[in-house]
Amino acid sequence: MHWVRDIWQALKAWAAPTRRVAAVVEGDTPTSLPRRDLVLLTEGGEPWSAVMLCPCGCGQRVELPLLPQVKPRWRLEVDSQGLPTLHPSVWLTCGCKSHFFLRKGKIIWV
Ligand SMILES: [Zn+2]
Repeated sequence: MHWVRDIWQALKAWAAPTRRVAAVVEGDTPTSLPRRDLVLLTEGGEPWSAVMLCPCGCGQRVELPLLPQVKPRWRLEVDSQGLPTLHPSVWLTCGCKSHFFLRKGKIIWV
């Protein structure tokens, strides 16, 4: 019955609020983060990290390094509508152990 799950997942993704890049911050991680949106951290105008709160609602901060020389690292693309896509998926190793993709501003649970 995989198709039932697939349709359910697609419905959930469709109904979920879209996430955007809320702010671009020069320097360190801000102490408070928006509930849903991403904050992009830059250093000298170059993005080095993306920060968001865990989409499961646990309140955990998810920091995603973007620098090519750092491992692990993520690639962040923002389309013309301001919708972010992250590669690869995000898999939290502690706390809620959430595993998800962010594609065009939508969380896709794995
Ligand atoms: Zn969580």
